[in-house]
Formats: sequence, structure tokens, C-alpha cells
Amino acid sequence: IHSTTVIPKPLVAILEAENVVSLGIFPLWVGERLIGVLLLEAEEEREFGEEEARLLDILVGQMAVALDSLQLLERSQRRATELETVAQVSVEAARTLDPERLLWDVSNLTKERFGLYHAHIYVLDEQSDYLILTAGAGDVGRQMVERGHMIPISLPTSLVARAAREKEPVVVNDVTRALDFLPNPLLPNARSELAVPMIVGERVIGVLDVQADRVGYFSELDVRVLSTLAAQIAVSIQNARLYAEQLQVADQLREVDRLKSEFLASMSHELRTPLNSIIGYAEVLLDGIDGELNDDMEEDITAIHSSGKHLLNLINDILDLAKIEAGQIDIVPEPLALPPLVEDIVQTTRVLLQNKPVELVADLPEDLPPIYADALRVRQIVANLLSNASKFTEEGQIVIHAQVFEQDPSMMHILVSDTGIGMSPDEVEVIFERFRQVDQSHTRRAGGTGLGLAITRELVQMQGGEIWVESEPGKGSVFHFTLPIASDANVSKS
Ligand code: ADP
Repeated sequence: IHSTTVIPKPLVAILEAENVVSLGIFPLWVGERLIGVLLLEAEEEREFGEEEARLLDILVGQMAVALDSLQLLERSQRRATELETVAQVSVEAARTLDPERLLWDVSNLTKERFGLYHAHIYVLDEQSDYLILTAGAGDVGRQMVERGHMIPISLPTSLVARAAREKEPVVVNDVTRALDFLPNPLLPNARSELAVPMIVGERVIGVLDVQADRVGYFSELDVRVLSTLAAQIAVSIQNARLYAEQLQVADQLREVDRLKSEFLASMSHELRTPLNSIIGYAEVLLDGIDGELNDDMEEDITAIHSSGKHLLNLINDILDLAKIEAGQIDIVPEPLALPPLVEDIVQTTRVLLQNKPVELVADLPEDLPPIYADALRVRQIVANLLSNASKFTEEGQIVIHAQVFEQDPSMMHILVSDTGIGMSPDEVEVIFERFRQVDQSHTRRAGGTGLGLAITRELVQMQGGEIWVESEPGKGSVFHFTLPIASDANVSKS
């Protein structure tokens, strides 16, 4: 080693200390790539003969190739495991609505599968701009999370904060030389660190931070693989947040809807009292109790009276629906004979037909079994269907008929048919919805709120029945509904 100038002085000193006298240096080449060096040392002076050198050359060549493929295999095995981890995390990320658990799983999986020293995940709190440690691998991870470890996003001495600020991965392959490395007493052996921001769109959700105990550990490929992983986690956190928000909004909407119904119920109740007195006093005047009225006066007060009645109907509808929606309507069922009840309503509905050439017929067999329902509500249902039929029928017949339901003998089937204007299939679709009126021009003339059928359907359904309609434009409509027939079972239940 003294006879050559190729070996630098400090190395000579080391070799001497180890009693090395002769040295053979053989580079390991794979093509153009130098992958290592083979050193042969001897403690006595030694000549490498030409033959020996040639053999060693061949040996070294084979060694280089073998070593290279071994490294390649190792690397591709590591990649395979890493990619498998990414796939596994994606599946879990897409499935879970519990991102907290996902973060712990990912921390542990990443550490283990990527052969890392440590892995943990910070989530950005947008209000305080702090990156809050939310999950970490193993005991150290748990300890740090328990201690409430967090980093302000503006902190200059943190790689994690830098990754979040710059929205780019930060790799430091020798942390001892990095100015913005924040040493952690719980992680004394960290040598390389990779901080990958978790981003959805433009928003930083947090940072996935991983550390290795070797210098120079993280390659360009690691950065790419871990960025994919970070993106998956980010999307999953975002999804879970949106889901939680959606649940909250739905809750709020339900509450608002309930308050609205409550307000409407009390409001319309309050409106009815003064209105009833307006109607009452108009009646007193019309009856002549306060003295004779001349023709003009009588006409005007009649107008006040009928407008008041109309308004009262509207308010009653709104009150009914609001009460139904606020769950404030009690149904008190009892065994009921239909024929007298229907006859009674038919009498009052006749008034509505005025002078129209329309015949109104109640066709109920005498031996009809009693139904089990709330008399007041049945009256409301039938009155509404008959008044609709009268409104929309100019000539012909309106018939109300009842029979035991063919498809279910425990139910009564009641039909209200008319020979009126009818409805198209599109119109039939919407008439049971609130505030829906089919033909504005026609209903303008007939009057109404578009609430009648919505209320009717609720009242039928609340009593265990169903309502439906068959109709043809120009021919007429048949409204059908069902209600339970009184039986030993339902009568004794109450
Ligand atoms: P409204 O109080 O406006 O009558 P309803 O809910 O009772 O409200 O009815 C909704 C709409 O359904 C009516 O505006 C009308 O267009 C249609 N409709 C209801 N009954 C009949 C019927 N017997 N014949 C034709 N159209 C009807």
C-alpha cells in the first residue's frame, strides 16, 4: 500500500492500523452502473498474478450480477407489499365512515408494511390552523396522541407543517442535517423523514408523516406510493365529514319542519277565533236581529259572510295538515255504521251542486258491516271527496258506493265516482301532494287550497287504509279508499 499513490493518505493510516499490507480493489459493475466494490486485503506483501487477476475479474463480474438481481428482487418484493397496502387501505377508506379508526389502521399498516421506524397522521383543524396528531403506529403513536401533540401550520421548524403549507411532499433523507427537522424525544432513531400532505381538491386535510431509522431511506417511488395513500385517506376523511354534516343538516331540517308545523297549527287556531266572530256577526245582521237591512246592505254582508266562510275553510285545512304533521291529531276509532253517516253528508253536499244537472246518489247496501274508524275523520274524508266531485262535475252523476274489499275482507272499500272533467295520468300522480292543484284555471273557478286530498290521504292512512284514484280526462274520476271493518280483534283492542 505504500508503493502506490492511488490510495489516499488517511485510508493508508486506517489500513496500516489493521495490518493490511496488500490490497486488491475490484469494482462491481453491472453494465455502466457501479453497484459496489470488492476489497481483498492481505497482511503480507502480495503480487496479484495476471491469471489470478483474470479469474477474480470473472468472479467479480458474476458477483455483481447476482448481487444486483438480489437487490432488484428485494426492491420489487417491497414494492409489491407496499402497493398491496395501498390497495387494502383504499378499500377500507372507501368503505368506512369512521375515519378515526381508519387513521389508526393506516398508521400501523404503513409502518409495518413499508418497514418504517414510525408512521403517524396529523389532521388539520381549520379553525385554529393547528395540525393535530390524530393517530400513530404502536405505543409511541398512542402516547403522542394522548399527550395531545400538535403543530401550528406556520411553524418554520417542522417538516410536517412545511408539507401542509406548500401542499407538496417533503423528503429529508438525513434529518440531522435538516434545519427544519423537529426532533422528537419519543423517536430518537429517526434518520429519514417523509411528510406527505393529504389533499382533496385544493384543501389540505392533514399530513401523513413517516420516518425511517436509516439515512437515505426514501426514494422518489416511495414519495409517489405514499402520496397515493395520503390521497385515499384524505378522500375518506372528507367523505365521513360530509356524511356527518349531511346527517346534521337533515336533523336541522326535520326540526325546522316540525317548528313550522307547530307554528302553523297555533297560528291558524288563533286566526279562527276572530274569523268565527266575523261570520257570527254577519249572520246576526243577515237574520235581521239588529234591524232591517236594505238590499245593498244585505248583498254586502252576504259577501262578507261567504268570504268569511271560505277563509275559514282554508284555515281549517291548513290547521288540519299542520296538526297531522306535528303529530297532534288523535284518531279515536269506534264501530261505525256507514249508511247513516254517508246519507247525512250527501244531504249537505247537494247544496254545493246548486242548479247543476248532476244527480248525487248514495248506493250503500243495508247489510254493510260496521267499520272501525273515527267518525269525525270519516266524515271529513267523505265530505272532501264528494265536494271535489261536485266541484269538477258539470253534468251527469256522482255515486258513492261501499262494499267489503275483494282483496282483503277485513277492509271496507268505498268508491266515489263522478262523470266530471277527469284527470290525465300525470295529474293523477300529483293530486295527493300538498298544495297541488291540477288545472289552475279550473280550480281558480272552483276554489280550493290544494290541501284537501293531502289531508284526506293522511286521514285514511292514519286509520290503516289506502286511497287511490282512477280517472280519464273528459270521462270522470273514481276515488277509492279503504278502512278497517269492525272485528272482535280491533274492537276489543281499544
Ligand atoms: P282543492 O282544495 O284545490 O280541491 P284537493 O287536494 O282537494 O285540492 O284537489 C287537488 C286537485 O285534484 C284539484 O285542484 C283538482 O285539480 C284535482 N281533483 C280532485 N278531485 C277531482 C275530481 N273529482 N275530478 C277532477 N279533478 C279532481
